[in-house]
Amino acid sequence: ALILGLESSCDETAAALVTSDGTIRAHKLARQEEAHRPYGGVVPEIAARAHVEMLGPLIEAALEEAGVTLADVDAIAATAGPGLIGGVMVGLVTGKALALAAGKPLVAVNHLEGHALSPRLGDRSLEFPYLLLLVSGGHCQLLLVEGVSRYRRLATTIDDAAGEAFDKTAKLLGLGFPGGPAVEKAAERGNPKAVPLPRPLVGSGEPHFSFAGLKSAVARAVNDYSAEDLAASFQQAVVDCLVDRTRLALAVTRPTALVVAGGVAANTAVRTALEALAAEHALPFVAPPLWLCTDNAAMIAWAGAERFAQGLTDPLDVPARPRWPLDPDAEKVRGAGV
Ligand code: ATP
Ligand code: MG
Ligand code: FE
Repeated sequence: ALILGLESSCDETAAALVTSDGTIRAHKLARQEEAHRPYGGVVPEIAARAHVEMLGPLIEAALEEAGVTLADVDAIAATAGPGLIGGVMVGLVTGKALALAAGKPLVAVNHLEGHALSPRLGDRSLEFPYLLLLVSGGHCQLLLVEGVSRYRRLATTIDDAAGEAFDKTAKLLGLGFPGGPAVEKAAERGNPKAVPLPRPLVGSGEPHFSFAGLKSAVARAVNDYSAEDLAASFQQAVVDCLVDRTRLALAVTRPTALVVAGGVAANTAVRTALEALAAEHALPFVAPPLWLCTDNAAMIAWAGAERFAQGLTDPLDVPARPRWPLDPDAEKVRGAGV
């Protein structure tokens, strides 16, 4: 089957055509970094307007690149949440309109499910259940991915997400936006042992993450050290937290592989440390290519393909959900995070 995927939940607008055997026929993406840079963060209203302007042309370009028309598409998958409501509405309403006009089924995709299943698009041999560390600007979770629609959340952040911590630290260090790549670049010239920073929750039996204290410690040290040393020490502290919490999850699960996804998975220090942790447990380590780690539409089309293969399509009145946990049971018990 050929699936058209649409993504517009944050500050990337994207359209992709992906087949159910994992071939990416086309992927078109527009970033809005420049529009948000003056504000040091994503401005929802600016993002929504940009999605409105960009999505149509990107869909047309994707169809053209693949050499197909809407009539050749078997289903239309659109992110229906979680995310900024204005942006989510743009993509979902566009998906609904195309589905109605072309008479195609609609698949409403949870953006987190897109991230969670994206490693299977990158590596078709990856089998369920795998342990996924999802680390992005809005999320920091450990999920046992047991199958399509079957996610067990083992841990989430009790305050900031890992990417959010990178972004806030970059702001404190005057490194600009988006913060993750800027901090990583500055860290290359710094000493990761220079600044004594806390490792919140490391060693705790509670399977959660916390980064707010780390960011505050950076703020207190900002006048006493160079931006390079602060960046390197901060990055090392985040890596230590991610590894420690993931090790705890590996002690209570029997996954086929350790997988990392989300924008922070683009970080080389994070990838290297997780790869070593996986090796310690004799597990394969899977990290999607960098472009598939950050927000994109190929992962939404792919999640759509996996759902479509199981007959999981949605009615045209399916609502946009700005908050939409992947594991509702975890939500009931802990009540934290998205
Ligand atoms: P969501 O959380 O809803 O998936 P998002 O747009 O924040 O939304 P992504 O696009 O997956 O998620 O990731 C963006 C985040 O990843 C930002 O916080 C950014 O700073 C971080 N990031 C990107 N590259 C790097 C890097 N090299 N090192 C560390 N963090 C990075
Ligand atoms: Mg983004
Ligand atoms: Fe994302």
